[in-house]
Amino acid sequence: MNILVTGGAGYVGSHCVRNLCEAGHSVVVYDHLEVGHRQAVDPRARLVVGDLGDATLLGNTLSEGSFDAVMHFAALADVNESVNHPLRYYRNNVVNSIRLLEAMRDHDVKRLVFSSSCAVYGIPPAVPISEDMPKNPVNPYGRTKLAIEWAIQDSAAAWGLGATALRYFNAAGAAEDGTIGEDHDPESHLIPRVLKVALGQGEQLSIFGVDYPTPDGSCVRDYIHVEDLGDIHRMALDTQPEGCFRCYNVGTGRGVSVKELIEAAREVTGCDIPATSAPRREGDPPELYADPARAMSDLGWKPKYTEIRRTLETAWAWHRANPQGFTGT
Ligand code: UDP
Repeated sequence: MNILVTGGAGYVGSHCVRNLCEAGHSVVVYDHLEVGHRQAVDPRARLVVGDLGDATLLGNTLSEGSFDAVMHFAALADVNESVNHPLRYYRNNVVNSIRLLEAMRDHDVKRLVFSSSCAVYGIPPAVPISEDMPKNPVNPYGRTKLAIEWAIQDSAAAWGLGATALRYFNAAGAAEDGTIGEDHDPESHLIPRVLKVALGQGEQLSIFGVDYPTPDGSCVRDYIHVEDLGDIHRMALDTQPEGCFRCYNVGTGRGVSVKELIEAAREVTGCDIPATSAPRREGDPPELYADPARAMSDLGWKPKYTEIRRTLETAWAWHRANPQGFTGT
């Protein structure tokens, strides 16, 4: 297939691009490189540097490519930032996704895999989280993802778009061969922050909240490896029925607390990793982990990385080899 990947230079997008290239697909990455990295783009893919807000460039790119499908990753994804700058999030995520859908409709591209998030559920009534639980996002980031899902779902009904929304939990880890990994600036995510302390790039890790109603008081999350995300994106595309909207929760099905993760990182790195209790971070639900049964039975997908230690090993290999991220390579 000819596939356009928006945000294909970003963390999850770049790993999915590699997966598609390895499966023999022809990939064009569309990315403004403000968050993503040129070095993260698989050399087998063609890179178009541009913004989704640039309707002319997007239209020209779609006209030239005769695309069978789009994978849509391009988005801002920092929960805390979304609380302070909601309109930036609505413009970047919602408005630009609508522009993409319009361009797809106008160019008759009828297959889409959308990078959604477990943030659409907000604070769930129970865990593990299944797809039919209420969607009550508690921050602007989650609300933008849900709004986009609605626009996609309505497009499926109105003009035959076939689309899958993959609601992933916490993307984690790095390519097994160490070639690409996670590099955000500023870095807000737990695993890279923990590993940066191990590398001596920070004195200690702040644990945001130790009084949550969880077994050890710290937040529980489901860390899903980026290579497993690459597999499920490709499988969703391969099996996409026409005119139909599907959604899947994508996680390992196992919750890991912040404290457990730090302990596992100490074992993997052999470093001390000092950690201290800090106040809760606004907008953080206490406990999120997936029920991935629907994705497993419908798509035949199965996560390969089910142990947090294995996921941390791949992340550690990347961070140790690239202590300054992509900019240092
Ligand atoms: N977290 C933390 N210290 C940090 C960064 C994150 O305690 O320096 C916690 C955060 O409060 C959340 C979990 O780690 O409970 C995962 O946070 P992350 O930002 O990686 O992902 P999120 O779940 O917010 O998408």
